[in-house]
Amino acid sequence: MVHFSTSGTTSRPSIENSVYPVGKGIIIEGDKIITIGDSEDLEFEYGNDSDHLVIDAEGGAIIPGLIDCHSHLLWSGDRSQEVRWRLEGKTYRDISTMGGGIQSTVDATRSSSKGELHKEGYVRLRAALRSGTTHMEVKSGYGLDTKTELDLLEVSSILSSDENLPTLDPTWMGAHDTPKEMTHEAYIDSLIHEQLPAIVDQGIARSADVFCEPGWFSVEESEDILKASRTAGLNLRMHIDEFEESGGGQLAAELKVQTADHAYHTSLDTRLNMKEAGVMTGFLPGTPYAMGDPWPNMSEVHEYGIPYTLATDFNPNCQTLSLPFMASLMVQRCRVQPLDVLAAMTVNAAKSSPHTNGDHGIIQEGAIANINILDSPNWESFSLKPSHTPFRATILNGKFMTH
Ligand SMILES: [Zn+2]
Repeated sequence: MVHFSTSGTTSRPSIENSVYPVGKGIIIEGDKIITIGDSEDLEFEYGNDSDHLVIDAEGGAIIPGLIDCHSHLLWSGDRSQEVRWRLEGKTYRDISTMGGGIQSTVDATRSSSKGELHKEGYVRLRAALRSGTTHMEVKSGYGLDTKTELDLLEVSSILSSDENLPTLDPTWMGAHDTPKEMTHEAYIDSLIHEQLPAIVDQGIARSADVFCEPGWFSVEESEDILKASRTAGLNLRMHIDEFEESGGGQLAAELKVQTADHAYHTSLDTRLNMKEAGVMTGFLPGTPYAMGDPWPNMSEVHEYGIPYTLATDFNPNCQTLSLPFMASLMVQRCRVQPLDVLAAMTVNAAKSSPHTNGDHGIIQEGAIANINILDSPNWESFSLKPSHTPFRATILNGKFMTH
């Protein structure tokens, strides 16, 4: 078992008592870890107590519950046919003007009921849980009108309260694209003066996110939306530099946003400015995997101690909910050490995605009891099984669930 410190924001966290030998036990009460100690001692103290269920990990290593800190969980429709257009060389923008892309997902999402969105979200979250995810950041952004954006956030709130599903951290991302029925300028005006006040009034979203990229929301437009969101009491997140370096990273540093994600084309100077400003970088390896793009330069990221997270970016073009698959891409394709990958999906992800009910992403006394039991004595195995769950069971908020 590996025990991480929550201190520090570098990519490689310090490790306290790095390995617990076989023979350690954990006492969980409610949704909290109460005690970590010698297994025999704990069994002597609690073994005959009918209030405590004894779970034998059977020599399997354990790691913290994984945190997916960047997902577009809720949407309807199916854009699988777009793969043919992409393979013909069409760009994201080409596909959008051909009637595909985000607008077709927006149309399908707007025509879904809240019940249908809930059903889709439920199935996806059960799949994520089987892959060890116990907490997930979830963005709206496939409604692009006030009613549907509110519906998406309401559904995420209902899903989050289901004790059989990962807990959710809802983000408002009205600034994902411009809906086809409005001009860009009119939409920005409605984002700031109509959607944002309604979202704040609803009280579910904790953060706002903006797709800051040429052709979507410029640096200046992103700044207006983000500043209004901060004034309204929301935390700030950004999508930056997915297609080119365009100033989003500098804005992230200036505004000291919580996290700036994608960041594939971000220069070293900008990365260092973001680090200096306390901004987390979110790498989303599923996107270059799905799109056939190059991987980010992770050796530079490690050399300069850039703090980062790893997440799925689950969306209609990148339909994976498996963080162990992301881990495999980083370890087996990008030569990143499993410990750095694990930190990015646990302690660092917890920093980038706020929680209301205690410490996540860590196994220590007092933390939320989110624990994955591996089907292997070696914790590194979580990164080596991309095709199926590496976990025998997951303890979700203190509740034991087999896979
Ligand atoms: Zn995204």
